[in-house]
Amino acid sequence: MFRTQKCVSPDLIKIKINHKNITKVMKKKIVIIGAGYAGASLARLFNDQAQIIVLESAKRPGGLCKSYYKEGMVYEYGPHILANHHCSDEAIAFILKHIDCVETGLTSASYVKGKFTYYPPHQKNAEILGIKEIVEEEWKNLPHIPNEENFETYLIDKVGKTFYEIYFKDFTEKFWGIPPKTMSAEWAKMRHLGESLKDEKMFFNKRWCAYPKSDWNELFKNLLQGINVVYDALVSKVDLDKKEVILDSGTTISYDMLISTMSIDKLFGYPYGKLKYSGYEIEPVILERDYYGEFNSKPISMTYFPEKDHIQARITDYKSFQKKETLETYQGRTIITIEKPSHKQEFYPSNDSENAKLLEKYLELAATHKDVITFGRKGLYKYLTTDTTTEMALRLQKYFPDWQELNVASRLDAYNIVRGNWNN
Ligand SMILES: Cc1cc2nc3c(=O)[nH]c(=O)nc-3n(C[C@H](O)[C@H](O)[C@H](O)COP(=O)(O)OP(=O)(O)OC[C@H]3O[C@@H](n4cnc5c(N)ncnc54)[C@H](O)[C@@H]3O)c2cc1C
Repeated sequence: MFRTQKCVSPDLIKIKINHKNITKVMKKKIVIIGAGYAGASLARLFNDQAQIIVLESAKRPGGLCKSYYKEGMVYEYGPHILANHHCSDEAIAFILKHIDCVETGLTSASYVKGKFTYYPPHQKNAEILGIKEIVEEEWKNLPHIPNEENFETYLIDKVGKTFYEIYFKDFTEKFWGIPPKTMSAEWAKMRHLGESLKDEKMFFNKRWCAYPKSDWNELFKNLLQGINVVYDALVSKVDLDKKEVILDSGTTISYDMLISTMSIDKLFGYPYGKLKYSGYEIEPVILERDYYGEFNSKPISMTYFPEKDHIQARITDYKSFQKKETLETYQGRTIITIEKPSHKQEFYPSNDSENAKLLEKYLELAATHKDVITFGRKGLYKYLTTDTTTEMALRLQKYFPDWQELNVASRLDAYNIVRGNWNN
């Protein structure tokens, strides 16, 4: 059984449920672009109500959530763990209906000046690093209310200048490739950065979390069972007037309604320019030892490397949280991924004001198209996990029967409510 935290989301209260129009979409042909978690979960939710066709450019489903194997050991593109970020029991229940999971925990640490230290940074790090006096002096003068002008001002006020420089400044520049001053304080708040000085709990341990009994691929097999998915189908253009998608092979497919999980700027042909993303390249490596590293006598799941001298931003040790350590393949060895920042990968939406403004314009444009729904990590340009994607999918399901009848302002409201205001 799973255990979750209860909480009420204020923006959910605004959703009006209207089941009377469900029959309107029954005969509709819905084309979904993308068989990642967003596309696959919507295909499952809407399958009884419409004729669905999913177009996926890759050879298999899963998007960023695919599991891969190396010498019998499973890994993902960075650690993938099911956690209850939004406190929605309904969302977690939907996922667990489609995949068997085992409860687990993640640990994290940061490698600084040749030593493992607490990550998120804890005040004990000052002692480990021999800088107790300097930082304690800074902490005496921290304001009660941090200056939220930007990411940097906020974090300096939360953890002091020295800790900010050690743990956040260089890491942020290394990962995002932009000065932290240009990033919003919102991003730091959303990631709970700087909240941990007195709280020894590691990153994910505050929440219930789990990993699939087998792997994440199983989830996609179950979600897409009986659904018409076309693989190797790259959508190169959408003709919004003719209501057709055009594949790079030249094939055109018509739709009554389109649900797109590709990037929102690409869907509309970049009329306002490109949204910026960041991400990393990974290198899977098998280590002939039990774990990559230990901190406080526990194997470390995620080790962060804030210093610029290290090319990687993070190393993930999969065995530490997958609960597969009793399997023969895992005896005396483990699998890690070395994660190196790359601006070619579209993983994380940029969190600066310029891109936030751009997104607003794209959402306003999207709301003028009644036959289109843009959704998912790139479709709504939001940092998402499977549980928060599910929460959004369940919200969208409530609007779905009436989507084409909504006026533009209501559709924009619907997008903002679906997108939500929670922190991951
Ligand atoms: C580094 C990283 C770590 C993560 N960790 C976790 C975690 O610990 N726990 C968790 O629950 N979630 C995690 N996630 C989130 C999860 O992997 C998904 O990103 C999320 O559920 C949203 O998926 P999505 O379908 O919106 O996007 P994607 O996974 O990007 O799927 C989009 C799909 O659309 C396809 N597509 C795109 N454009 C086209 C086109 N033009 N034509 C046809 N097909 C197209 C792509 O091939 C892809 O399959 C993580 C994500 C990342 C990037």
